[in-house]
Amino acid sequence: MAIAKKMKTFIESASWIRKMFEEGARMKQEYGEDKVFDFSLGNPDLSPPPRLRESLQKEAARQDPLIHGYMPNSGYPYVREKVADQVSGEQGVNLSGDDIIMTCGAAGALNVVMKSILNPGDEVIILSPFFVEYNFYIDNHGGVPVIAHTAGDFSLDLEAIEEAVTPKTKAVIINSPNNPTGQIYSAEELEKLASVLIKKNRQYSTTIYLISDEPYRNIVYDGLKVPGTLSAYKNAIVVSSYSKELSLAGERIGYLALHPEITAKEELTGALTLANRILGFVNAPALMQRLIADVQGESVDSTIYADRRKKLHDILKQAGYKFILPKGAFYFFPKSPLQDDARFVQMLKEEKILAVPGRGFGTPGYFRLSFCVGDKVIEGAARGFARAIEAARSA
Ligand code: PLP
Repeated sequence: MAIAKKMKTFIESASWIRKMFEEGARMKQEYGEDKVFDFSLGNPDLSPPPRLRESLQKEAARQDPLIHGYMPNSGYPYVREKVADQVSGEQGVNLSGDDIIMTCGAAGALNVVMKSILNPGDEVIILSPFFVEYNFYIDNHGGVPVIAHTAGDFSLDLEAIEEAVTPKTKAVIINSPNNPTGQIYSAEELEKLASVLIKKNRQYSTTIYLISDEPYRNIVYDGLKVPGTLSAYKNAIVVSSYSKELSLAGERIGYLALHPEITAKEELTGALTLANRILGFVNAPALMQRLIADVQGESVDSTIYADRRKKLHDILKQAGYKFILPKGAFYFFPKSPLQDDARFVQMLKEEKILAVPGRGFGTPGYFRLSFCVGDKVIEGAARGFARAIEAARSA
């Protein structure tokens, strides 16, 4: 075998979204772009705020010799300061530039954190349904993912988390607003989670990090606000990116933010900064750092996502699907009308609707729909959604 055995299994478990993507491309070619309703990918399709384009034009005119050069591995100091100001407001804790490291997206940030904290065999708790790549990032750095389920409404199940903690637990990853469920954890839930971790730290004489993956923080509905994680727990690290809130997913720009009083901060910062370099990122893209510094606090027009959420909600409800209305992010995670979610996704495909089965997120019996698609796709799929559930009922 030419490739590592492990990669072979990873390719299998990562395959759901990729399969749908490939199938979508094939179907669009066969039936025409407008005849296929592709809800499979969370690829933000709204334009970035106009100020970002203005900033890009301004940057293109600059001729300073080192603007494309290397920089400190943790990022431009002035950019880190600006990000710190914004994150301080969001998290309810006062951060300085020293608490921020600019990264290649949230994925880059997660890998940098794992590289810095994990010894071989250390356990990292992830909550199902989960973003499937957490498993790979943990494994990349010798860790072992341990799955704890969430509650019926996808809120935190604190007992399940507590039961999953062992003396080997190094971190818990949470993601709010959540992909794929759209759930947002309340301040009260975060405080209770912090109490569990503090209790377990005492019991096992450990430091369990709470890693809060927040790339959807600013895509929320009904005036909701995502509570701070750093204000709930001192050993917390926020990882985030501008992939979703500024529709910059392909530009690979994000950051990690440490609680200012995190345990062994100096040593941890040193490890994170070196990890950013030696994982091959070296530093976050220079141009993107300068651009996002200019648009701190701005975001894509979330009212467009809100309108789509309403449209898709009405269509799914009318057809008889069971689901929880997402509070944030841009996904629905309805219950599959057949226990076999892969089979139901196949039925949707017969209606030229592309979705991802819940088993791709460690939670069979559901399916994910991303509403990073225009109104025509949502409206065009209405009849297919209704026919597919009918077909499932009589299957
Ligand atoms: N975390 C979650 C929950 C995601 O949904 C994604 C991307 O879809 C990422 C992390 C990775 O984000 P980025 O593209 O900014 O690295």
